Amino acid sequence: MDISIIIPIFNEEGNIELLYKRVVATIQACQLSFEIIFVNDGSKDSSLQKIMELSITDNRIKYIDFSRNFGHQIAVSAGLNNTLGEAVVIIDADLQDPPELIAELYQKYKEGYEVVYAKRKSRKGESFLKLVTAKLFYKTLRNITSVDIPLDTGDFRIIDHKVVEELRKMPEPNKFLRGQISWIGFRQTFIEYDRQERAFGTTGYTYRKMIKFALDGITSFSESPLKLATMLGFVVSFAAFCMLLYAFYSRLISRDYVPGWASLIISVLFLGGIQLLSLGIIGEYISRIMANVRNRPLYIISNSNIKSAK
Ligand code: UDP
Ligand code: MG
Repeated sequence: MDISIIIPIFNEEGNIELLYKRVVATIQACQLSFEIIFVNDGSKDSSLQKIMELSITDNRIKYIDFSRNFGHQIAVSAGLNNTLGEAVVIIDADLQDPPELIAELYQKYKEGYEVVYAKRKSRKGESFLKLVTAKLFYKTLRNITSVDIPLDTGDFRIIDHKVVEELRKMPEPNKFLRGQISWIGFRQTFIEYDRQERAFGTTGYTYRKMIKFALDGITSFSESPLKLATMLGFVVSFAAFCMLLYAFYSRLISRDYVPGWASLIISVLFLGGIQLLSLGIIGEYISRIMANVRNRPLYIISNSNIKSAK
């Protein structure tokens, strides 16, 4: 098998048919043997039905149906655990990543790269707030990690089976695949493309999911927030020490002091804020340690046409 295509699906009933046609046309033009693995991540519409219909007429279509919504990164991970191809392509279902680009990705891959990711030259049809927060997040992430995570890049990419095997060995439940793939290394390169508007339906990435995803990325690849908490501790302690000196000075030397509540309330609130912030940062890390310690399965498969789906 030359190539496995992983497609996570969350309420994509309107996209599946066209997506299937465009993917198959592209890969057949390259004369490659392939499989398409749809991972249905707890869709509430008729997505699963559409996929099952396709799988009856085309035995290259595999599907994994989750027992509920586990999230995009987990859906892709389930796909990765079940691929047979020499190379694996990860692509969104909403046609924002044009399937025709798979040909270009594959060509680059054949030049001897283990990872070829698709970098967005432009992004259409996404809200201003999403674009700004995404940009800010990736810039920050780049600054606070030692792993070189490329800017303006999603999970749309082709990776060699060697990379897939390494990913399968990484047990963390809080997946941040684009970071993990950078971390793994090998020869990596990119092609550029214009990201399209979503063809049908609405985004499955709510702000809540985006915030979780961003925090997963940061906590998986950086200890800087913990260091920031420590630094804040030092800075605030130093400020408190200066205040102490000033208090002695005004009480004993200048004898010019007002029993004021303003300075008191400000320092109490300030200290409280810093303490809560630091606790919050530590909490984010602890909750992820907890997830690791619980060691629950990443996802639960309700149904699949892959014999020993894992
Ligand atoms: N997706 C998923 N589970 C989710 C949310 C999204 O499997 O909980 C899938 C979705 O069907 C799509 C891909 O992940 O194939 C990207 O999601 P989406 O297009 O909603 O995100 P956006 O492009 O808006 O960031
Ligand atoms: Mg999308």
